[in-house]
Amino acid sequence: MQSLFEPLGRETPTATRLAPVVLAVALDQTYDYIVPDDVEIEPGCFVMVPFGPQSRIGVVWDRPVGEPGKPVDPKKLKTITARLDAPPLPALTMRFAEWIAKYTLAPLGMTVRMMMSARAVFEPQKPRFGVTLVEGAPEPSRMTPARKRALEIAADGAIRAKAALALAAECSTAVVDGLVQSGNLVEVAIPEKRPPQPDPKHQVTEFTPEQATAVATLQSAVDGGNFSVSLLDGVTGSGKTEVYFEAVARTLERGHQAVIMLPEIALTDQFMRRFNARFGAPPVEWHSALSGPERGRVWRQAANGEARVIVGARSALFLPFSDLGLIIVDEEHDPGYKQDDRVHYQARDMAVVRGSLGGFPVILASATPSIESHVNARTGRYRHVVLPGRFSGASLPDITAIDLRITPPEKGKWLAPPLVDAITRTMEDKQQTLLFLNRRGYAPLTLCRSCGHRIECPQCTAWLVEHRFRGRLHCHHCGFSIALPEKCPKCAEPGSLVACGPGVERVAEEVAERFPDAKVALLSSDLIPGLTEMREVIRSIEAGGIDIVIGTQMVAKGHHFPNLATVGIVDGDLGLAQGADPRAGERTFQLLHQVTGRAGRALAEGRGYVQTHMPDHPVMAAIIASDREAFIEQEIQSRRRGLLPPYGRLVALVIAAREKETAQLIARDIALRAPRSDKIEVLGPAEAPLSVIRGRHRWRLLVKAPREIDVQAYLRAWMSELPPLKGDVRVTVDIDPYSFL
Ligand code: ADP
Ligand code: ZN
Repeated sequence: MQSLFEPLGRETPTATRLAPVVLAVALDQTYDYIVPDDVEIEPGCFVMVPFGPQSRIGVVWDRPVGEPGKPVDPKKLKTITARLDAPPLPALTMRFAEWIAKYTLAPLGMTVRMMMSARAVFEPQKPRFGVTLVEGAPEPSRMTPARKRALEIAADGAIRAKAALALAAECSTAVVDGLVQSGNLVEVAIPEKRPPQPDPKHQVTEFTPEQATAVATLQSAVDGGNFSVSLLDGVTGSGKTEVYFEAVARTLERGHQAVIMLPEIALTDQFMRRFNARFGAPPVEWHSALSGPERGRVWRQAANGEARVIVGARSALFLPFSDLGLIIVDEEHDPGYKQDDRVHYQARDMAVVRGSLGGFPVILASATPSIESHVNARTGRYRHVVLPGRFSGASLPDITAIDLRITPPEKGKWLAPPLVDAITRTMEDKQQTLLFLNRRGYAPLTLCRSCGHRIECPQCTAWLVEHRFRGRLHCHHCGFSIALPEKCPKCAEPGSLVACGPGVERVAEEVAERFPDAKVALLSSDLIPGLTEMREVIRSIEAGGIDIVIGTQMVAKGHHFPNLATVGIVDGDLGLAQGADPRAGERTFQLLHQVTGRAGRALAEGRGYVQTHMPDHPVMAAIIASDREAFIEQEIQSRRRGLLPPYGRLVALVIAAREKETAQLIARDIALRAPRSDKIEVLGPAEAPLSVIRGRHRWRLLVKAPREIDVQAYLRAWMSELPPLKGDVRVTVDIDPYSFL
């Protein structure tokens, strides 16, 4: 038997060639497969292999991974069935997959699966056919006006889909078919379109002296040609985007690809237009709203280098770039960068890892950087690049607290009198107001006035949220929904159900009552059917066609609404109550700061109002005083004292099972088996705050370790000693958790 991989892709007359293959399943090792003589393979290439009774796609790895031990009985070895016609995974992408697997404790097969997130790439390529003119062919014997029009259009020699030609010539496709038959047109494959190439010199920006300094620093990071991380820290409107575009431009000039990661990529039409204005071509987009074939195309273009700049959601990191030279993580503090299913990873941190593997710079941009990044900037691990003021010269909005204990709204209403006055004044000035409430739907709780029953999800410990537009109650954790009942499901009293508390729909209802003449836009992910519609609404807000915008967190991100003067936070306290979450304060600060920062970006003056029951809470006080530095300082100190991230490391274990007792018993058993360590604390088990999701009872353990401890090694040792899990028990390991529910 030939040693692993040695003669990969080469013929050896006597020996069997073997290749280590990673399958996109929850397994943490390579499997050896026989390479048939007539199949050429190379590291990273995709192959079909038998796996159990099925046939699966695998990646030929460039070295064996996992259990090397037991030699497989040669008779049991299976054979690669075919090589797929997809570009191979670059070596760096394989190293990246291994790194993430090691760090997150996810099986390698699952991280490789993330690198394969474009199914179409692995399916047989169906070329699309179009028609083009046959030059010099004699005129068709029967020349109709429709045929004439079609031939005139085709005269330019372009290849067009039949339908496109028919449309342009205002004829039916039968006319086009007729011209194919007559030999005047011929069917040819439509070549894959190369994406338009961004030009680094297309439109050069003039920078202020502060911006120019920041540009120079970032460009020198690109020129250095090695790994570095820069934290681009500047208030909303300071020009961070303009500035990091110059790092992209420099990367393009040096011939490398760049990735710009954005949270909520679906909403960033404005960003695309700005990019287009700067570079004369749109970037290549990568996000969940792409169709299957589009995903396949982008994946290939990342691999063959045709995509020069990709703008995408967190998963853009996993594209098979042929020559990546820069990653920008915009809004780096955004909690959306943490993925919490299957592979639990923090995309911002993984971007830094990818940069270090690839030896190129990474730029993290934010107006409210995460505490982790601040600490890294202070210790010198990251360069701190600061943009001090707004480009427009406008000052940041004045923030006023509305103390709900002193000036509460009327009963059954949610906007307190001072906020109503502010909206009224803004309307009179013909300017825009944004009302923010981070809660979808109409009301978070439906209660029976007669028996006190609260309508809960049958599968989760959560109340059902009323969505009045749809006339339904929804669970925001599992997707369960029912039509809004007419009588109490418990005591059957008709008409006794009342909505408690506000969601954005209810705020919209109040706004419609109070300001019947206002043009209102309600931005909530569940209310707008798709990307196109969303972009439509955002455009009309930008154009000033809307007086009052009401929205959830999706309005906090990245938009620049020039006419927006007043921002009202309907419930500033929401989010502070999450006791166990060490980032609750930070997150609330970031969200409120970002939302209020939307006001007055172009106007001389913006105003922010925060409705709160606790104006003296440190987070609220910092928001109101706009004292970011004091807040950061205080937060850093408390993290240091509590050995919380980034000073300590956390790992969450969630044990879930159908039976509450089973979950609890297993959780206890796992806790008891934790290896002894003086340095590591294992807290719990405790019932999770969200104690049941989808009918599974959940218990949590929290591991706390000092920074220098190899917590992955500790967990690996611990987990390998556990008896096999029986039945429906699931244990999830979440390194650096962001959710504590
Ligand atoms: P940030 O990303 O920090 O929020 P942006 O880059 O979006 O800031 O800049 C805010 C606004 O100011 C944008 O409309 C942008 O086009 C404009 N702007 C910033 N810097 C410049 C510049 N040097 N020249 C022209 N416009 C600029
Ligand atoms: Zn539910």
